[in-house]
Amino acid sequence: MGKEQLEPAVSEDRRKTLLQKAKRLKKMSKEQLEERRQWAVGTIATPPDGIQCSHCGNTGFITEENTDGYETVAPCPACYERRQVARRLKASGISPEDYENCRLTTFLADTEISRQMLAMANAYLTSRQPGQGFGLFGTAGTGKTHLCIAVCQEITRKYNEPHYYFSYRTEMPTLIKAMKSYSNAYDDAVRKWKECDNLYIDDLFKMAVRYGSDKNPASIEPDDLKVMFDIINARYMNKKATLFSSEIAVNELSQIDGALGSRIYAMIKPYGMKVTGENRRLQGGTVA
Ligand SMILES: [Zn+2]
Repeated sequence: MGKEQLEPAVSEDRRKTLLQKAKRLKKMSKEQLEERRQWAVGTIATPPDGIQCSHCGNTGFITEENTDGYETVAPCPACYERRQVARRLKASGISPEDYENCRLTTFLADTEISRQMLAMANAYLTSRQPGQGFGLFGTAGTGKTHLCIAVCQEITRKYNEPHYYFSYRTEMPTLIKAMKSYSNAYDDAVRKWKECDNLYIDDLFKMAVRYGSDKNPASIEPDDLKVMFDIINARYMNKKATLFSSEIAVNELSQIDGALGSRIYAMIKPYGMKVTGENRRLQGGTVA
């Protein structure tokens, strides 16, 4: 008995067999993963977000082997970011097809103001300097969002730079909640919006503006102002291009918050325009 206890718990032969078995299992699980991937490619032939990716079988995730030989799951480099964009669009009520269709060529320029808007977009795309932004402000439904998305897509197509879509209505509740929690979650959540290239903030201060009895903007929710100043000021300091659309004009914003108003003005000049006119959504447009 005493002698046996001094021997290794597992004999050398047994250890070799176990190692071989472990290797086989690992290989098998890889094959199974590949099988699952193939299955996913076939099964999710039309993924809900419309993004086809053979790299990850439309799951948005890939498995990687780290140095210890363990498998970890990571975002798919080929499609994860696009899926996030699609998710954000869906949450804000724009389908990827509508987004795709927002082009300069599909922008309806049949009024004096819409022709000016389109001319400014073209001028911006031709002459933009690093970090320079673009902004359309004023009446709802005049094509501000359509044109801003079109400019974003041209930035990506023409200059091969990425762009990011920030739906104010959709993203802000999460950011404000994180800010109020005083946790690292807030820093993590805003970092991307502070640092990414070419950010389009759609419908800035939507639902956050309070109007006075004279129907002019009188105040903005303090939490909204805090988060937006944080993001916009960081982008200003880092010289990151930002595109804006908003129903509140820059001069109206300046009267409520001078610091933020002057930051935005400095970021977008001379490519800012106040848009007035009829609401085209009432005439059957999809993204206005
Ligand atoms: Zn993928």
